[in-house]
Amino acid sequence: MSPLIAIVYRAYYTPSRCEQNRTMQLGDFTLTTISGGRFRLDGGAMFGVVPKPLWERCLPADEKNRVPMATNCLLIEAPDGTRTLIDTGYGTRFTDKQRAIYEMPNRSELVDGLNTLGLTPSDIDMVILSHLHFDHAGGGCQQNIDGQVRPLFTNAQYIVQRREWDVAMCGESEWSAIYDRSNFACLAESGQLELVDGDAEIAAGIQARLTGGHSPGHQAIVIQNGNEAAVYLGDICPTWDHLPMMWCMAYDANVVDVRREKTKLLGEIVDRQMWALSDHDSRHAAARLSRDKRRDFVADTLVESL
Ligand SMILES: [Zn+2]
Repeated sequence: MSPLIAIVYRAYYTPSRCEQNRTMQLGDFTLTTISGGRFRLDGGAMFGVVPKPLWERCLPADEKNRVPMATNCLLIEAPDGTRTLIDTGYGTRFTDKQRAIYEMPNRSELVDGLNTLGLTPSDIDMVILSHLHFDHAGGGCQQNIDGQVRPLFTNAQYIVQRREWDVAMCGESEWSAIYDRSNFACLAESGQLELVDGDAEIAAGIQARLTGGHSPGHQAIVIQNGNEAAVYLGDICPTWDHLPMMWCMAYDANVVDVRREKTKLLGEIVDRQMWALSDHDSRHAAARLSRDKRRDFVADTLVESL
């Protein structure tokens, strides 16, 4: 770690009560990264049209061509005591075969992470889902001993873009392979679902930014307090290796929209000197960005994660 990064790291990111959590002060808000579970995904799928010799220099693959991924969920604690969680990781409802494919542990790292902060899922007031793919929404519900799937965060409102909900629940074959409705259908049944349309103020200092692209109703989250601001990028830019406009995922539903919206959002982050927060980067959860002639944007101050 260079001296500059070490200084920034100490100033903004102090080790919390758990090795797996990292905390940042953003004005009066306390932001803590909590793992929703590590896993591995196919490197080719993560980098789309980018040739392997290029992406492998950034993120080496294992013998099965998989690259390491985090699910960096973000806990926002406001001065009035309300607690908001952005994304929930993939949860626990998998077969042994699926666990082996993705190299997923057989426990909830998210609940473990909350526990080490002295919290349980019932202490969360609001859950914002960037989108409804399994690795973001799967941890929001759990299977009870009666076999029923129920919301894990029993006292929380769950915030989802209406466009995302409609596509994920439509049941049409081109979408049903991408969305597992059992991960979120229970939210409507329990009355805990709140749908938002486009850009919206979700709570004081927490704003939804509809990006689409990766999925039809994908949203990034802007957190602002005083002069400080951060953007949880979600899968519009899943790792710091995806900063160049053309480096997109094969999972993106509309890759042209991702290129456009990502470039717009990253430009705003640079211009407004905001922190950028990554959902899937397994090495660094937060970064300061700047523009770059060759790679469009670079992360020049990275903050260690997990
Ligand atoms: Zn994802």
